[in-house]
Amino acid sequence: MTERTSDTQELAQAWAELVATARRTADTGLVVGTSGNVSVRVGELVLITPSGVPYERLAPEDLVAVDLDGHQVRGTLKPTSELPLHLAVYRSTPAGAVVHTHALHATAVSTLVPELPPVHYMTADLGGPVRVAPYALYGTPELAAHMLEALRGRTACLLQNHGAVTYGATLDQAYDRTAQLEWMSRLWLTAHAVPGHTPSLLSPADVAAAGRQLKGYGQWR
Ligand code: 13P
Ligand code: ZN
Repeated sequence: MTERTSDTQELAQAWAELVATARRTADTGLVVGTSGNVSVRVGELVLITPSGVPYERLAPEDLVAVDLDGHQVRGTLKPTSELPLHLAVYRSTPAGAVVHTHALHATAVSTLVPELPPVHYMTADLGGPVRVAPYALYGTPELAAHMLEALRGRTACLLQNHGAVTYGATLDQAYDRTAQLEWMSRLWLTAHAVPGHTPSLLSPADVAAAGRQLKGYGQWR
């Protein structure tokens, strides 16, 4: 097998996984219609969902790839309008994949507070209390800049009056972080809405201890 063939196969495999993840965001209600976008890094290239195309319609031949400067190197469909946001994450972090959604509860939180209060230890999986990036028009370099500031030391942030962004080493990790962030947003909204009560919060030491504990979570011996 030539190197070129194996490169093409690697991109085709990554595209299939990206489309599956994008469909998952729609199937699990984290986005409606063509809202949101997903990308994955393959070496010096970024595969990314095209703008305004329903995920169920995406086929293998729709593959869109850009380089880290945003030049399109594969495909004819126009990349997502949030290309500046995705590229900003890859240029500034070790991200292998980025998921942007308009998840309902996360977006609701983005309209209420500058930071999601640490109501649960899973805050630690996102690097600490998740900040809200101040509002800027979708698709703009301003929004990407606000997001990067909010992402400092975190793997997730909220975009005020817009949605959420998470990244991870893999598509599965980026997706799972979005799902956790949405769940934690819902948890805080639920607890916060009980009249006459205020949710208790974790201290920075509690969050740090959970972060250390989570490093050994799961099937690690
Ligand atoms: P795209 O369809 O261009 O990806 O835009 C959706 C979106 O969420 C913009 O913020
Ligand atoms: Zn959006």
